[in-house]
Amino acid sequence: MLEEELKKKTTFFTAEDFYQDIQKKKGKIGIATIYRFLNEKVKNHTVHSYSCNRRTLFSREKKTHSHFICEICKEQKHVNIKNIDFLKNEISGEICHFQLDVSGICEKCLKNEKRF
Ligand SMILES: [Zn+2]
Ligand SMILES: [Zn+2]
Ligand SMILES: [Zn+2]
Repeated sequence: MLEEELKKKTTFFTAEDFYQDIQKKKGKIGIATIYRFLNEKVKNHTVHSYSCNRRTLFSREKKTHSHFICEICKEQKHVNIKNIDFLKNEISGEICHFQLDVSGICEKCLKNEKRF
């Protein structure tokens, strides 16, 4: 049941999303069961987890999840970073997936700064 629903997930999802899908089909599963299920999957490397805006996202595929966060307006954008060759030399274990948070000043704030 949970396995079947999980297979339908092709993008990032939260435990709450997953919980709602399950509830539509079969009301009686508690959110704690969902968390336990997903955490087990993360341990087995069949699901990967990321943190986004203080929420935990899950994905079945090894995706990358990276943010560019403006230090002035705090706006957070998703960026697509694919090449992590520069990291491979720094890490002695095996890389599964990665998540990067890059801080800086967004274009909007750069323009505002120039006015002063
Ligand atoms: Zn992973
Ligand atoms: Zn994110
Ligand atoms: Zn900004």
